[in-house]
Amino acid sequence: MGRLQLNDLKKVFESSNQDILAVNELNIDIKDGEFLVLVGPSGCGKSTTLRCIAGLEQTTSGQILLEDRDITHRKPKERDMAMVFQNYALYPHMTVHKNIGYGLKITTDLSKDEINERVEETAELLEIEELLDKEPGDLSGGQQQRVALGRAIIREPEVFLMDEPLSNLDAKLRTTMRTEIQQLQQDMGITTIYVTHDQTEAMTMGDRIAILNDGELQQIGEPLECYHRPVNQFVAGFIGSPSMNFLSVSRNGATLEHDEFTYQIGSDTAADLEEASTELTMGIRPEHITLARPDEDNAVETTVEVIEPMGEVTYVYFELGGETYTASIDGERRIQAGDDVHVVFPERKLHLFDGRTGEAIK
Ligand code: ATP
Repeated sequence: MGRLQLNDLKKVFESSNQDILAVNELNIDIKDGEFLVLVGPSGCGKSTTLRCIAGLEQTTSGQILLEDRDITHRKPKERDMAMVFQNYALYPHMTVHKNIGYGLKITTDLSKDEINERVEETAELLEIEELLDKEPGDLSGGQQQRVALGRAIIREPEVFLMDEPLSNLDAKLRTTMRTEIQQLQQDMGITTIYVTHDQTEAMTMGDRIAILNDGELQQIGEPLECYHRPVNQFVAGFIGSPSMNFLSVSRNGATLEHDEFTYQIGSDTAADLEEASTELTMGIRPEHITLARPDEDNAVETTVEVIEPMGEVTYVYFELGGETYTASIDGERRIQAGDDVHVVFPERKLHLFDGRTGEAIK
């Protein structure tokens, strides 16, 4: 069983000139068997959090509980967790067989035959039986990653910890391995915490995702919940690709005034905004912008600057008030740079944030 709780977890790196607050009062309750993705930009504290959970870093304060047992100060090998690193960390002069079996050899009193049997079962599960006699230097990146996974799996730990395990692989292999890791995790039902800076990986893999920024938890929830109902502008901009567009507006009754256009909101939205600040940030995802007729409500006139045909969709870049924005439109629609167009930001897809704090209002 592997319910894992982080209670007010804090990590400060002390140095002579400046202390760095890497993780600040993090509270996360990870269910037994859950796949939780920790995601955020470089330096937000993801790896430090994972390393604290693994026991590779001493926490400054707070608690880590595994099935209600306080493991905050236990040594890494007493935590019943297996970690997979970005660089695989395989032993270069051992065969794949030995790499996979080594953990069991040093931490259990299983016989040689029992270990061999477990290594073979694990290799079969990962479809790397034919690699068992090779050394890591003879393997491709993807194969090395499988061996690293094998080394973690064979221990049947209570928790898997994975730190950007796919970032050294090419895009195609990354997509394949993503599905394989998810499948393995589901089959084994082992609680997994997976660190990545890649929001696509987070969206597609996690049962829930925890989004960090500057050492602080911004939002935790199911991927689509974070996509549809981001709690603040940071999450809104981080989740989704291409990123959400943000436009500064001032509210005047039921009118949102931008330097280049005015936008009439419905009475329900206006009522929601009554108590809010008058300085707002309007957020609209590229995939929700439509091209419209000039007479359509709230149509905004602009000129296409650049297009990027992606196949299924085309990214259209346009400018308003000196800022460039992105729309993602049907790839079959004919459009080219220099075209004068009208864009519409449909009201039911609008996000509105407090212009000062960035907190979501609607
Ligand atoms: P990345 O995706 O780049 O690995 P991350 O989100 O995993 O980033 P961390 O590596 O956890 O971020 O780093 C969080 C902060 O703590 C950063 O400001 C980093 O510089 C700092 N930090 C991390 N490890 C140490 C250390 N050993 N000593 C001092 N500062 C550190």
